[in-house]
Amino acid sequence: MKGAGRKKEKETRAKPHIRRDDIVYVIAGRDKGKRGKVLHVSPQKGVALVEGINIIVKTIRPDPQVAQSGGFVRREGPITLSNIQLFCSHCQKPTRIARKVSGDRKERICKRCKNPIGKA
Ligand SMILES: [Zn+2]
Repeated sequence: MKGAGRKKEKETRAKPHIRRDDIVYVIAGRDKGKRGKVLHVSPQKGVALVEGINIIVKTIRPDPQVAQSGGFVRREGPITLSNIQLFCSHCQKPTRIARKVSGDRKERICKRCKNPIGKA
């Protein structure tokens, strides 16, 4: 019977290593080699929106009711989290992160240069 099964929740899977406002490097796909800022992360779907990456062009129909004129809208499309890697601003390379606990705060540090990620 369809629909009666229990939901498969995969929330126990690894937390995304990427967060909003991170700079990421695209390691696979159409925009391979580019980098951009993370606009949004969907852990459940395992995807992220990255500024300037995976741009899709949507056609907008004119809709007089909302004073919308027709045309095209360029928008970021979702990219699979496994296709992007965090970009370290210190070593200027995509990197993997390590977690460090300092006090009651968890910090993410670059595995290459050991500098904290995402902090100026
Ligand atoms: Zn680094």
